[in-house]
Amino acid sequence: MGARSTAAKANSDMESVESAEQAVKAKLQATNGSKANSSQSPNAWSIEKSEELYRITGWGEPYFSINAAGHVTVSPEGDRGGSLDLFDLVNALKQRNLGLPLLIRFSDILQDRIERLNAAFAKAIARYNYPGVYRGVFPVKCNQQRHLVEALVGFGKPHQFGLEAGSKPELMIALATLKTPGALLICNGYKDREYIEMAILAQQLGQTPIIVLEQVEEVSLVIEAGRKLGIRPILGVRAKLSSKGVGRWGTSAGDRAKFGLTVPEILSTVEQLRAANMLDSLQLLHYHIGSQISSIAVVKTAIQEASQIYVELAKLGAAMKYLDVGGGLGVDYDGSKTNFYASKNYNVQNYANDVIAEVKEACDERKLPVPTLVSESGRAIASHQSVLVFDVLSTSEVPSGVPEPVQETEHLIVRNLYETYESITVENYQEAYHDATQFKEEAISLFNFGYVSLPERARAERLYWVCCEKILAIARQQEYVPDDLEDLEKIMASIYYINLSVFQSAPDSWAIDQLFPIMPIHRLDEEPTKRATLADLTCDSDGNIDQFIDLKDVKPVLELHPLIAEKGSRESAVGSGKESYPTPHSPLPTPSHKPYYLAMFLGGAYQEIMGNLHNLFGDTNAVHIHLTPKGYEIEHVVKGDTMTEVLGYVQYDSEDLIESIRQQTELALQEKRITLQESQLLLQNYERSLSRYTYLSA
Ligand SMILES: *Cc1c(COP(=O)(O)O)cnc(C)c1O
Repeated sequence: MGARSTAAKANSDMESVESAEQAVKAKLQATNGSKANSSQSPNAWSIEKSEELYRITGWGEPYFSINAAGHVTVSPEGDRGGSLDLFDLVNALKQRNLGLPLLIRFSDILQDRIERLNAAFAKAIARYNYPGVYRGVFPVKCNQQRHLVEALVGFGKPHQFGLEAGSKPELMIALATLKTPGALLICNGYKDREYIEMAILAQQLGQTPIIVLEQVEEVSLVIEAGRKLGIRPILGVRAKLSSKGVGRWGTSAGDRAKFGLTVPEILSTVEQLRAANMLDSLQLLHYHIGSQISSIAVVKTAIQEASQIYVELAKLGAAMKYLDVGGGLGVDYDGSKTNFYASKNYNVQNYANDVIAEVKEACDERKLPVPTLVSESGRAIASHQSVLVFDVLSTSEVPSGVPEPVQETEHLIVRNLYETYESITVENYQEAYHDATQFKEEAISLFNFGYVSLPERARAERLYWVCCEKILAIARQQEYVPDDLEDLEKIMASIYYINLSVFQSAPDSWAIDQLFPIMPIHRLDEEPTKRATLADLTCDSDGNIDQFIDLKDVKPVLELHPLIAEKGSRESAVGSGKESYPTPHSPLPTPSHKPYYLAMFLGGAYQEIMGNLHNLFGDTNAVHIHLTPKGYEIEHVVKGDTMTEVLGYVQYDSEDLIESIRQQTELALQEKRITLQESQLLLQNYERSLSRYTYLSA
């Protein structure tokens, strides 16, 4: 349930508000000239080391990089324009009462994605002397937000870029939004009579709707509707290719796929249309073999098969004019440029080249005119434009540091653990790990039988953790880490509590373990000395992130910086844990700390609408930013859900809720269980909360 789709959303559009913020002027940095020089000692941390660690060049180019101040910068127009300091931008937005978590959409990145895709096809068309054109469409299901779709249609105008609808509600969006002459409106998904009639009638508005037959039943519906209206529809068929995608969405193709017609069904469709004297309506062949295709070989096999079906349909007498290759163009989430599921081993140009070359060859061989090529890339267009920024609320660490020396009088098990601690070396660290683990388990057994006191058990546990710390420090230096020590990194990881709901803002991370690049947006000139997993605000143990992008495979922890206490606070680094031994993995009492901001990147496709209201954390605040020669402007502000709104989704009425609290306080007042002052405080807090953001405010 994507709550943002609720029509009653109070959007406050602040069109063209020129930013007055001097601090966040586009800094027109030459991307290279801005790097801090690393002329210090070879061990000193540098911005280059952060770049390598977080792999920002791999997944972020050309939009995201790091400046000399150690902040992430955003260059929405790629290498062609200016850039913004993301940290400064977030601070400026916070001053406008736009609290975290905050979704920032960069419309210029969206435009750049469309430009790049069209440029790649234009280049391929020129290179292979393809005597046809490319007409891309954006699949609305990827991100249906009005501001985004409207902007996209605007940016796509010069390229006659169209829209693809996968459902009736999406058709409603596309029909009302797409006014570009010549742009295609591809009508996919389940269709009823109303859907089909609307699509056919839209032709009379000057639009180019193409109804793609995906189910056998739709054929007769379309024939009937066309006859009744006296309008010849433009039709397509969706083929179930036998070439399958790979990975997560691989089952979108193949004989048993959910959508599309098998070859025998396509043939009988042709015959039905011929019998109805409508074969000239059939003009498009469509296929979609799944999303995030990580291997170019799969792209090639599919286009080969589809090209053959295309020419065969033309031979059968259909007035074939369009070939629609669907979506699937991948995004390199981990920047590894491999066929790993979170990556892809090709770029947009390779993709366009292969598609164009393959189709041309098939048509040339049969001496047929080439089709207008259509693609439905969603992920590749919408992912990069949004950045989700969130703050860290507190951290939890396992005990660390140097333990108090052991006393003769202490329990034997404590003395054993201390001795183990003292004796850890490079030669015996694996054995020491087993000893420490065994002693800790013994300590717990002894405690359960009443032979060890609570303080003794606490002392034993702390000693165990500092043993692990010392062992891990050695293990990290080794080239080969024994299997039984591999989990140590995970066990010893800090937990960073983040002001976010994974279920609302990164549902695919929870549901299908999708990887998104996550990193701090500042302090990148400092070494991130902590290794952490992230825990979200929900009280659900699945509400965490413990897989992060890495060059090879994934890593279980993310390198982060220790929180810094605000001046006047007693510790310099919050949660450094030295001898203050908090219990393992329970949040520290949070002394106020300086803001620490993280961001999740490449989440602009699918995440927003699939996000859900688990624990009633609602939509985040969202802003649309556009770069101007003088800085930037905030094109739109879409305020996140208030408590009243999320409670409304589950049918609670704010007035009723307040009334219930009021009555309870009245009763308590009568029975003198509460003072008048207390009851007023309670009511004020309750009422104020209802109009507030569902996330925590710093
Ligand atoms: C989901 C979908 C797309 C978009 O796929 P991406 O991998 O995001 O490009 C395109 N076409 C159809 C029919 C789809 O169902």
